[in-house]
Amino acid sequence: MLIVMKKGATEESIQNVVEAAEKRGYTARPIPGGDRVSIGILYNKGSVDAGRFMGLEGVKEVIPVTKPYKLVSREFKNENSVIKVGNVCFGNGSMPIIAGPCAVESQEQAITIAKAVKKAGAAMFRGGAFKPRTSPYDFQGLGKKGLEILANVREETGLPFATEVMDIESFDLVEEYSDVIQIGTRNMQNFSLLKRAGRAKKPIILKRGMSAMLQEWLMAAEYIMEEGNSQVILCERGIRTFVRHSRNTLDLSAVTEVKKESHLPVIVDPSHAAGVRDQVIPLACASVAVGSDGLMVEVHHKPEEAMSDGAQSLYPEQFEKLMQMVNKIHSITGCASF
Ligand code: PEP
Ligand code: MN
Repeated sequence: MLIVMKKGATEESIQNVVEAAEKRGYTARPIPGGDRVSIGILYNKGSVDAGRFMGLEGVKEVIPVTKPYKLVSREFKNENSVIKVGNVCFGNGSMPIIAGPCAVESQEQAITIAKAVKKAGAAMFRGGAFKPRTSPYDFQGLGKKGLEILANVREETGLPFATEVMDIESFDLVEEYSDVIQIGTRNMQNFSLLKRAGRAKKPIILKRGMSAMLQEWLMAAEYIMEEGNSQVILCERGIRTFVRHSRNTLDLSAVTEVKKESHLPVIVDPSHAAGVRDQVIPLACASVAVGSDGLMVEVHHKPEEAMSDGAQSLYPEQFEKLMQMVNKIHSITGCASF
């Protein structure tokens, strides 16, 4: 249930409602909005009697919440959440593009790619230091050294960066270095990792599990928010289907549906959906047209030598073209809601 306070409700009346809820054994979570505060009631088993709260001072209305997810839902918070990473905003109608290699391989590789994507207009850099690989014999990432390289690249280019965290063991380290922490498709339902992410002081990019329903994805985001971190960016990256012409199938309707259900920004990673570079630009364009709040794209200056995901990595010239096309489409559609 959601208790919506009147505009200008005093701190005291908000506290009074929180106490009234807690006295009945519920957890009450104030959610600041544009011009008014709402109070979410959590952990109620069964319905809550709205009448108990309607008469309290400062209460405007009491809305039953019908969805299993609460903090992530539009029922709880109607206006779009804007997640800030330095000067980069996700969810405010702009089109931030995160670009870089799948994995950090060396200082020289990372800085070469970072300079190229920055020149083309990328707002953020990406690169994995801890890589979740299908085979234990494949390159697993440079670990701490990779994070140090990413920090050097940030220093030199001014680009904030996103990098993946794979487990709780390395969480503190990844949190210390990164600007945004990525949770990958394979970990979307790693609930202890999600809880740790919920205690992080950095924003989280939560990729959709490769066979997750929207409700499961949103519930995973709920885990993070419930622990206290409301800085969550959702990322659609393709789901596993029967097709063989692409690595995954980009589920563009997920973008429009999630934006209806949730106030969180949703970005798209066309690279892992495609698996091959020829499909990346068209899928990126389509993602922007359906209202994505940003993109994450893999780029490599020598993709044929890449240690991972070379086949789907764009050459820098292709990335420039992507930026031009995406900017044109975004100037027509904005980050539309349908
Ligand atoms: C990645 O971003 O390099 C990655 C491994 O992504 P995903 O979790 O979507 O496969
Ligand atoms: Mn990759």
